[in-house]
Amino acid sequence: MNKNKKILTKQSITVQNVSKHFDTVSPVKNVSFTVEQGEFITLLGPSGSGKSTLLGLVAGLEKPSEGSISLQSQEITGLSEDNLALLRRNSVGFVFQAFHLIPTLTALENVSFPLYPVKMDIKERQQRAATLLGKIGLADRADHLPTHLSGGERQRVAIARALVNEPQILFCDEPTGNLDSKTGKEILDLLTSLNREQGVTLFIVTHDQEIAKLSNRSLFMQDGEVTQ
Ligand code: ADP
Ligand code: MG
Repeated sequence: MNKNKKILTKQSITVQNVSKHFDTVSPVKNVSFTVEQGEFITLLGPSGSGKSTLLGLVAGLEKPSEGSISLQSQEITGLSEDNLALLRRNSVGFVFQAFHLIPTLTALENVSFPLYPVKMDIKERQQRAATLLGKIGLADRADHLPTHLSGGERQRVAIARALVNEPQILFCDEPTGNLDSKTGKEILDLLTSLNREQGVTLFIVTHDQEIAKLSNRSLFMQDGEVTQ
């Protein structure tokens, strides 16, 4: 594990004048905001307003056309692909609406998958994944393939996978969007407890006002611009 990883910095996310241009559209236009360590932020806005594009930029999955982004006080916009991959692996977790589990791997294998590039004994890798599955109440599903899990169970596995490297920031793109309201609430409880008990910075894109009410602060996106 990276020795510097656990140093707490006040600023968790800093976004300055960030834009993203494609050929004919600019889904993110001159966006600036900051998020402090341990905050729980929701990003709201209508469909097509640029939320997923912005999330991908801030999480380091894509590069902005303009502007700068820092995560845990590290500027990410100038990083090489290798260093960016390292940062994503060490500091950032990502949860998608559609789970994105690997269909041919069991729940345990999906959760331990991000640990493969890490030098770690296979037993320790499996132990870490098994411990996480236990924490989210899926110990008895460890050997199941995603097709044999319910939507809520799949999303819990996806959250466990996002947490296996002990990230300081967890990005979620409509994490309850494909779930019924009861299951969605369970996922939300899991996410908020991570924030409260472990101080993980939570940055959640959502349409759900209930999630927004639980968060410390909401950002609103409209036509590629963010208002606070
Ligand atoms: P939201 O998540 O708020 O629904 P998105 O970020 O997915 O919005 O999309 C915002 C706009 O950007 C949409 O009009 C979408 O078609 C466009 N867009 C997103 N990604 C690309 C891309 N790779 N190429 C071209 N246009 C894109
Ligand atoms: Mg979206």
